[in-house]
Amino acid sequence: MNYYSLNKNTANVDFREATIKGQAPDKGLYFPESIPSVAADLIKNISGYSKEELAFEIMLPYVGNTISKTDLQKIVAETINFPFPLVAVNREIYSLELFHGPTLAFKDVGARFMSRCLGYFSTQQKNKVTVLVATSGDTGGAVANGFLGVEGVEVVILYPSGKVSPVQELQLTTCGQNIKALEVKGSFDDCQAMVKDAFMDVDLNNHLTLTSANSINVARWLPQQLYYFFAYQQWIKEHDTAPVISVPSGNFGNICAGLLAHVSGLPVEHFIAACNVNDAVPEYLRTGNYQSKKAVPTISNAMDVGSPSNFVRVLELFQNNYQTISEKISGYTVSDEITKQTIAEVYQNDHYLLDPHGAVAYYALAAYQKSNPEKKGMILETAHPVKFPDTVEKVISKTIEIPESVKPLFTKEKQSELISPNFSALKNWLLSQ
Ligand SMILES: *Cc1c(COP(=O)(O)O)cnc(C)c1O
Repeated sequence: MNYYSLNKNTANVDFREATIKGQAPDKGLYFPESIPSVAADLIKNISGYSKEELAFEIMLPYVGNTISKTDLQKIVAETINFPFPLVAVNREIYSLELFHGPTLAFKDVGARFMSRCLGYFSTQQKNKVTVLVATSGDTGGAVANGFLGVEGVEVVILYPSGKVSPVQELQLTTCGQNIKALEVKGSFDDCQAMVKDAFMDVDLNNHLTLTSANSINVARWLPQQLYYFFAYQQWIKEHDTAPVISVPSGNFGNICAGLLAHVSGLPVEHFIAACNVNDAVPEYLRTGNYQSKKAVPTISNAMDVGSPSNFVRVLELFQNNYQTISEKISGYTVSDEITKQTIAEVYQNDHYLLDPHGAVAYYALAAYQKSNPEKKGMILETAHPVKFPDTVEKVISKTIEIPESVKPLFTKEKQSELISPNFSALKNWLLSQ
């Protein structure tokens, strides 16, 4: 399998090149040359597959011969070595819990897969690879955890000072070894702009092999298909029709991976793009006009994205056909007020505690079901509520129990370097390492 750039102004590359480069030299996102078809037999007999077997079958065509089959088997097994339970919240709505990984958010899957692929590829080349990543919270921890100790790879995480939650900050600043955290005296947008400038700077790229660990990287984006297959595997045991799936969306990497799985043969009745007030895509789905916006801060901060980078992949997947896209996906905009109300109601009525991102997805799915009462569905619960204690504890007037796996974090010491929110500060820092 080769990948082309969506800007169509550079050579096609294999999975290895696409992973190491992150973004294409013409600044486009890489996209698979063809969408593999999942065998009808696999879908029919899906309950007979183990998670590991499924994951291997799904990823193999995308990786091609760039990784040996034995190594790929090992990589996928390590990527998904935690549970992905589908839990009934009530009779209409299920929750696919994607927060049982090491950093309690769905980004663990993409980060674990990418780190292991990059580790594998870096043994074949002389130069060390430097992964640069900007985070609004969850990406940093997942990337730090996934890449910790991977030889030949240095990781530099930029995060906005004072704007991530305590658990998130500890997850990304306490690893040590090959993981460095830069605490930027600015906003997430500043962090992202600094990283973007770094990829464009000729001088810096002559000195370092830089790559991105955001969902523009195919090695982070593609494995997110897997949990849609795990969801279906569990769903179909109890239902005879395909589910509606509601995805809390920011950069649209997650939902776009689900759409890719669907186009390659996974039965899904309908997709819901659930957004907070940063709703450029829901707006497009309603009107047919796409306009990026300036990001507004919300309580579901991992979705505070004004210009979702993976939206171009959604368009490509459906040949830019608005008709098809708007029939397959519905968009919803959910305010902070309604998000909090939803957390409170679901906790009261169903004794299920949503995090703010899952609550956005829940409200959107319930709204869709009001006009489509016979359609059952699931939300993707993308993070554990303990990652957002300020919001959640106020809403339910209780403290949230900290999971055992997180407790050791609070005994560790934060290690970060404060830097100014501009590219020259980052460049000087990188060149001095
Ligand atoms: C990153 C993130 C999202 C948004 O996912 P995208 O792939 O960027 O659309 C939603 N919820 C949580 C908890 C996240 O960390």
